[in-house]
Amino acid sequence: MSFWLRRSVQLWHQRTLCSALTGTKSYDIVIVGGGLVGAAVCAGVAQSGSPCKIAIVEPNLQKFLSNSVEQEERSFPLRTSTINPASQRWLKKLKIWELLDSQEIASFSRMKVWDSRSGSSIVFHSSEVGLESLGSVVANDDLLRACYRRIQRSAMSKQSKIDFFDSGVDTFQWSSSHRGFTEWPVLTLKDGNELHCRLVIAADGSNSPTRKSANIPWFSHYYQQRAIVVTVRTEKLHRTAWQRFLSTGPIALLPMAGLNVSNVVWSTTELEASILSSATKEALIDELNKAFLGVANDTILKKADSEEYPPVISEILKGPASFPLVLGHATEYVKERLVLVGDAAHSVHPLAGQGVNLGFADARCLVEILENARMTGRDFGEISLLLQYQLRRLPKNLLMLSSLHGLETIFSSSLGPVSFIRGLGMSLLGGFIPAKKAIIDFASGKIE
Ligand SMILES: Cc1cc2nc3c(=O)[nH]c(=O)nc-3n(C[C@H](O)[C@H](O)[C@H](O)COP(=O)(O)OP(=O)(O)OC[C@H]3O[C@@H](n4cnc5c(N)ncnc54)[C@H](O)[C@@H]3O)c2cc1C
Repeated sequence: MSFWLRRSVQLWHQRTLCSALTGTKSYDIVIVGGGLVGAAVCAGVAQSGSPCKIAIVEPNLQKFLSNSVEQEERSFPLRTSTINPASQRWLKKLKIWELLDSQEIASFSRMKVWDSRSGSSIVFHSSEVGLESLGSVVANDDLLRACYRRIQRSAMSKQSKIDFFDSGVDTFQWSSSHRGFTEWPVLTLKDGNELHCRLVIAADGSNSPTRKSANIPWFSHYYQQRAIVVTVRTEKLHRTAWQRFLSTGPIALLPMAGLNVSNVVWSTTELEASILSSATKEALIDELNKAFLGVANDTILKKADSEEYPPVISEILKGPASFPLVLGHATEYVKERLVLVGDAAHSVHPLAGQGVNLGFADARCLVEILENARMTGRDFGEISLLLQYQLRRLPKNLLMLSSLHGLETIFSSSLGPVSFIRGLGMSLLGGFIPAKKAIIDFASGKIE
């Protein structure tokens, strides 16, 4: 046996023994949180360039890795995301998109936004900006399964070593000398495992325990609203994303894969949300149709015959469920050996369906920076490297965050002058193609 082979076997035994005795394992990267953004980062890092040792820690991992879900859940998912063209392109590049069944994707090429008070409206067409579609609606569970299938394939190809931990991180120890691994963070999991690594990627959502443990301040504004989410059947098939601004907040009807299936996201006051959550199915259908079509039942049907209004909702297939709406932003995205991505760094109002798209843009940027670091032999955890990520992503996310907050404020105001300007603005924008193009470019991720 050659010296090098003997030495490698010795080292391998040492490491395995260490893990077996202490439960301590070492990695280049530990991803905390394997939701959509964490899973996409993992798939991205696992596929790029030279080999790398990655751990992903997620308490719902078993569910995400499993391919078998109840038939009912598979047919009518509740949580969906509108994936913009930029995110779609990246997911295609990572070969994640191709793992979605075509029946799991509902693309839309038209979007109508209208205001209940001024009556003004604006319609966007993908053809106006030379795009095939304005976005695609996919169920979160389907997209997660596709991400994990891609990660598992990378793990099997041995391009990168990936360990999966079906657990949560319990405690974090930052920048301390630990069993000879000076300055590497140590994460203790709820199942007793200890992981230390060059870099922690925090993708653990807006309540991020990782961000809190690293003492990164988080500014937040609670909208005192909740989003009611329902999957419904409509009387007619449609391929338009509809959004109506009511005095209490926006309501959206998004086409989903499946026969006349759509997803409703209704942002409203806490009081109305609790009434809607406990309403009977019949009462909820009535409320939804009134919210989209405005008036008494016979008028609803008349209007719904027209292409200008959404189809009538005839059945509740899943839900309702409700989610609190919070705007939040971390003051910094990086520290030595730590980087925040997705909702752990920023949380936005769902009115424009941008949350996970911003997260995917973070993920894309970070994967690119880590890939360059690997090629030049740099340490992933170096602050000067991570600052490149912060410099590129923080201003763009802040711009989107403030634009969405501004929109929410303008559309929730019932002041006469604001309502007038809102109506006038929509009418003017509707006839001005360059302005519409700029809005679509912004929402589709072309200008990030
Ligand atoms: C009603 C609604 C509709 C939305 N619609 C859209 C849309 O159409 N388009 C869009 O782009 N965005 C949308 N969003 C926003 C989008 O859902 C979020 O931005 C996105 O899910 C964030 O993904 P994430 O992976 O960063 O965080 P999360 O999805 O919150 O995932 C965080 C993960 O971290 C794990 N975790 C937490 N604590 C720990 C721990 N201690 N250790 C290990 N793991 C941990 C959790 O289990 C979880 O899986 C919507 C949001 C809402 C509320």
